[in-house]
Amino acid sequence: MVKAGFRGGVHPDDRKSATAGLPVTRAGVPDRIVIPMSQHLGAPCEPSVAVGDRVERGRIVGDIRAMVSAPVHSPVNGTVTAIVDVLLAGGTRSAAVEIEPDAEQDFESWLPVTETETMELACAAGLVGMGGAAFPTRVKLRPPADMPISCVILNGCECEPFLTCDHRVMLEKAEAVVGGGRKIAEIVGAKRVVIGVEDNKPDAIAALREHAGGDVEVLALATRYPQGAEKQLILAALGKEVPHGKLPAATGALVHNVGTAAALWEAYQLKKPLMERVVTVSGAVARPGNYLTLVGTPISALLETAGGVTEEQVRVIAGGPMTGAALGSLDVPVVKGTSGVVVLRMSESAPAVDGDQPCIRCGRCRDACPMYLLPYELGTQANVRLWDGCERLHALDCIECGCCAYACPTRRPLVQLIRGSKAALMARGAKL
Ligand code: SF4
Ligand code: SF4
Repeated sequence: MVKAGFRGGVHPDDRKSATAGLPVTRAGVPDRIVIPMSQHLGAPCEPSVAVGDRVERGRIVGDIRAMVSAPVHSPVNGTVTAIVDVLLAGGTRSAAVEIEPDAEQDFESWLPVTETETMELACAAGLVGMGGAAFPTRVKLRPPADMPISCVILNGCECEPFLTCDHRVMLEKAEAVVGGGRKIAEIVGAKRVVIGVEDNKPDAIAALREHAGGDVEVLALATRYPQGAEKQLILAALGKEVPHGKLPAATGALVHNVGTAAALWEAYQLKKPLMERVVTVSGAVARPGNYLTLVGTPISALLETAGGVTEEQVRVIAGGPMTGAALGSLDVPVVKGTSGVVVLRMSESAPAVDGDQPCIRCGRCRDACPMYLLPYELGTQANVRLWDGCERLHALDCIECGCCAYACPTRRPLVQLIRGSKAALMARGAKL
């Protein structure tokens, strides 16, 4: 049975057929690996190596200084050549450890994670949410004491167009996904695990069901963007709305990405730290694919693995086209949260427009908004910096899914405007 989802949303052309059927293959080893100290929400790491140090695959090269953080590891055997300042996909900068890899690499071995207690192991292995938000997994495994977790939901929706990395992980590592889900449930004391997968991935649903059963249910969900947004997924899977201003844990649910569950299982079973991940490279490239990519690989090198860009005028996006970041430089490195690199032809990419673009009051943005907001009104207030009005219109509830902008016939930059209002509200003390 396919569960109906949530109110609103859109149906963009999913463009997944170029890579959905392609098994994961390993990307090339670049000339230099650049490992940012900030790959997660929370405090950046501190470099724990110096220029000239030899490092082994799996060695920690950036250690944590705070509870909300996650260490970073070298994905190669090599030599530290510099501590640099690097631009990240979102436009921020971070200190980074630059490593020159040895000519020969053994990808089957690594320095094992030594922790044995599962929650500490999640930290030592550097686990973070791999669906994009990159929240440190150890912290997420400790929900507030007054919010008991009854159900772990694994997010296998992958509703963003082009991206198929989670799809391939569910197919090729179904046992690890299910095993990781059970382990998370054991840690947080949940009685059941629900794996939500959009019904456009029937092969992944079948693969997961071979290992599910008992306390683990695989739920086929309607294919509609943003089915994989946390609040929409909880509503679709459990029929519960996250109360305004509350954590998702208030519903008794804890959501993790399927890739994170598989990484937790590998950390637990194989003592393997998170130092590589599957990245979908698609769009205007010669060899689209799902590439197992070393963290720290420059996007330019990953595009070379994919045979290079095939068009002159393109926009390169880190992540999917609905919520990803357009890159100003191809030097930015792949990080733990990089799910895809999508090369859009300029003709496929929305033209840049300013906030004064007219609103014809068609209401399509309101109908598309899965958070019951009034995007046209929010955009108007934000454009003239009326932050009190934005607050009254619940700008902070916006999940930046992009449905409103996608639906808008006059291409008003609604998400940019609302994102700006959220930043202004938070700067004056409002909390998400
Ligand atoms: S207002 Fe926010 S939540 Fe609503 S559709 Fe636009 S981006 Fe999505
Ligand atoms: S979709 Fe665009 S034009 Fe239509 S009401 Fe919303 S902002 Fe205005």
